[in-house]
Amino acid sequence: MSTRVGTDIAEAARLLSAGGVVAMPTETVYGLAALARDADAVRRVYSIKGRPLDHPLIVHVANEEAAREWAGSWSPTADALAKRFWPGPLTLIVNRADFVPDFVTGGRPTVALRVPSHPLAIELLRRVDDGLAAPSANRFGRVSPTTAEHVRNDLGDDVDYVLDGGACDVGLESTIVDCSVDPPQILRPGGVAREDIEAVVRTLAPMSGPSRAPGMLDSHYAPNCRVVLRENDDESEPRSSGATRALDASVDPSSFARDMYAHLRNADSDGIETLVITLPAPHGIGLAIRDRLRKAAAQR
Ligand code: AMP
Ligand code: MG
Repeated sequence: MSTRVGTDIAEAARLLSAGGVVAMPTETVYGLAALARDADAVRRVYSIKGRPLDHPLIVHVANEEAAREWAGSWSPTADALAKRFWPGPLTLIVNRADFVPDFVTGGRPTVALRVPSHPLAIELLRRVDDGLAAPSANRFGRVSPTTAEHVRNDLGDDVDYVLDGGACDVGLESTIVDCSVDPPQILRPGGVAREDIEAVVRTLAPMSGPSRAPGMLDSHYAPNCRVVLRENDDESEPRSSGATRALDASVDPSSFARDMYAHLRNADSDGIETLVITLPAPHGIGLAIRDRLRKAAAQR
């Protein structure tokens, strides 16, 4: 029987509560969801993705109150960021509550928590009434999915159901802020801009180089084609070979972010060998786009 794709939220909730694995839409990318307390279900998520077991997962919850249950302590910083940006594309790293299993945190004393804003994700979390571990619904290291069809193409019949919530609004992953250290630090740029975080948390530890959250590799988000990056003011000819396509992320970064992973996928399905992309300026959503594209372009 082939995996069903649809909008039956009651069925998605039923499958999850019974220990199933369901792809769910969020405003960032599609997640591969399972009950975060269910060892067998979470093990299936790791095995479907081919993700190393020590890479921790983000626990998605319906609201701040539920997040506080999963947290061992709730710092003023976590509180301020949650109140300002949840529901939304922000993940908070906080000390974990005693019950939070090692298979979710990779054995760390901290847990990653997020309240997504996609209406179907929120409704699903309410019905399941528990935390859902949900990494991106793609094979490890490859391009993240931003439509139900992307999930279907990647994971085939390995998941029990794909809940179709349309194309993701933000189009790239959440910003991860580590609130378990002082000062807090951005571990991965994402859907919430650094400038907006700084308006709430005055002192942030500097983030240097590529995103460095545990388990994040130098090559990630990678299509099959070669990705060549250039700055907006770069006048040299890009080094390209074979069928080439050029994209410009600098003109309208938000709309580029929304379509970015689809662009990477389309390049492959169209037989493109070299994708040349002009980078956006490194602020706002541009920081996250640059981070993902650098990893997509990295040597593998
Ligand atoms: P995603 O790949 O979008 O599911 O995001 C998962 C990422 O969140 C992991 O690769 C880690 O980098 C980060 N993460 C999850 N849990 C923790 C944690 N307890 N401490 C630090 N980073 C974490
Ligand atoms: Mg991912």
